[in-house]
Amino acid sequence: DTLSAVSVPSCFDYALRLFQARLNELGVTVERQWQAEDIWVRADPVRLEQVLVNLIGNALQAMADTATPHLSLTIETTPEQVYIQVADSGPGIAESQISRVFEPFFTTKSTGSGLGLGLSISGRIIDDLGGRIEAGNAPGGGALFTITLPRDPGPK
Ligand code: ADP
Ligand code: MG
Repeated sequence: DTLSAVSVPSCFDYALRLFQARLNELGVTVERQWQAEDIWVRADPVRLEQVLVNLIGNALQAMADTATPHLSLTIETTPEQVYIQVADSGPGIAESQISRVFEPFFTTKSTGSGLGLGLSISGRIIDDLGGRIEAGNAPGGGALFTITLPRDPGPK
């Protein structure tokens, strides 16, 4: 297969580089919260990057009209698990829609700007790795996505 030990901080850094111009344009403050660079999961690196790009892209779209956009990227670990969080300071997800955001073609964006496939594909990718992805809102407002994946010891 194409699975290997993938560094989660490297995937976040890749996604941040991809969005760097847009983040600057929107004046987004970015908070990177993780304790170590060697936090590993077993994944296809391109696919895991795609998931993080989808989540950050959605966050940026949600914050397009926010005065002080803030993006918070967090990685937490236990001996067995890795928790990856993407939180934004946008309007959040309507409670009635939280359970639907992973459905194929579910979108609240106007025609053309969203196909509604990003989260369904992301959900599928994480499922295939034996993980889970959850949508919700942070206590202080804004959407909060949490990915849980089995921890990998790394390539060494
Ligand atoms: P799309 O971005 O094409 O609409 P997605 O599958 O990426 O499709 O997301 C589905 C829907 O989930 C979005 O249309 C939006 O309603 C909701 N959503 C996803 N991320 C966020 C977010 N960060 N803040 C608010 N709503 C979100
Ligand atoms: Mg999207």
